Amino acid sequence: MFDLQKLKKDFENCPCGREHTLAIDDIVIGSGTVHKVGEILKRNGFKKNLLFVADENTLKAADGVLESLKEFNLTMKMYKNLREATMSEVQVIKGLLSDLDAVISVGTGSLNDRGTFPLYLLLKPRHSLYR
Ligand SMILES: [Zn+2]
Repeated sequence: MFDLQKLKKDFENCPCGREHTLAIDDIVIGSGTVHKVGEILKRNGFKKNLLFVADENTLKAADGVLESLKEFNLTMKMYKNLREATMSEVQVIKGLLSDLDAVISVGTGSLNDRGTFPLYLLLKPRHSLYR
């Protein structure tokens, strides 16, 4: 089984002499993990107010994720079928973040770019969950 914490520890005091850092706190890979998203977020210290970004296709592929997030307060930003991330949409997402603690992005490139780039612009810690 993959152990991210062991990997991080293995790279402390690397013989190459360079400091190796990793901004990722947790990686979960496996069947049915979509039903454990809320539990994974809680153990990683996520707060309750989340922006949930997805499109109809990715949400269908992640069936069960919303049920697993019942204990969180979700602000939904749904798209029909997202193909490209645009700066105007990044600004829309950025505007939604003022009262929220983190972004949950269900999808791949264009959806995750919309979720994480506004956080970069606001200099908030990046919390994004990739499907
Ligand atoms: Zn090294």
